[in-house]
Amino acid sequence: DKQNRKAIIAGNWKMNKTATEAKALISELIPAVKDAGCEVVICVPFTDLVTAVEMTKGTNIHVGAENVHFEKSGAFTGEISADMLTDLGVEYVVIGHSERRQYFAETNETVNKRTKAALAGGLKPIICVGESLDQREQGVTEELVRMQVKIALNGVTADELKNVVIAYEPIWAIGTGKTATADQAEEVCAAIRKVVGELYGEDAAKALTVQYGGSMNPKNAEELLSKPDVDGGLIGGASLKADQFAVIVDAAT
Ligand code: PGA
Repeated sequence: DKQNRKAIIAGNWKMNKTATEAKALISELIPAVKDAGCEVVICVPFTDLVTAVEMTKGTNIHVGAENVHFEKSGAFTGEISADMLTDLGVEYVVIGHSERRQYFAETNETVNKRTKAALAGGLKPIICVGESLDQREQGVTEELVRMQVKIALNGVTADELKNVVIAYEPIWAIGTGKTATADQAEEVCAAIRKVVGELYGEDAAKALTVQYGGSMNPKNAEELLSKPDVDGGLIGGASLKADQFAVIVDAAT
């Protein structure tokens, strides 16, 4: 099954790198990942998108944004629409990252709206789900993640689902250096595939790329990525160093 799915390693730069700094990092990344056997994506701040798209033309690196607004256009000062991103040549967009849920009041409902707007605009959403440490300790991880997935995908058609990526990111593992064990990652990634199967059928579930994210690094990537339901990674800290990111990309090959 796994061989039939697209493995995707995506960097999530978060609020790092000016356009000038992005130029330097991307010039290191291009040669470092050129022989990748998986899909390579860099999700970068809005102000780095033009640089990223232009520099990666003709390379195997795909570019994503880190958020998108759900309205098509209009009086939404400071927001960026899906059309604005696709027009630049942006292909992916991270939606519902836990930092956005935590600091910018994103809810399952706005994640759903953004997902639908992204798909309608021709972007591939990387939808982030995952539990807090409290929720894990209370034993509600699977129920919570199932709910996050179901609401995120509400109204998404089977055809649109082909462009959806889901990233399982336990909040307690993000930026903490605490990685989920490969078994913990596998358990939840498999639960995500299962709920997608309930909603869209077995074939759709088998074709879905499910990533793990949360302190994935050159040391632990291979073990995490060896799990049957872990099809890639969403990489924060380690995506800011070309050599580290390249090791993770190689581990997905
Ligand atoms: P991290 O971030 O790899 O720095 O833990 C992952 C993410 O937030 O996507």
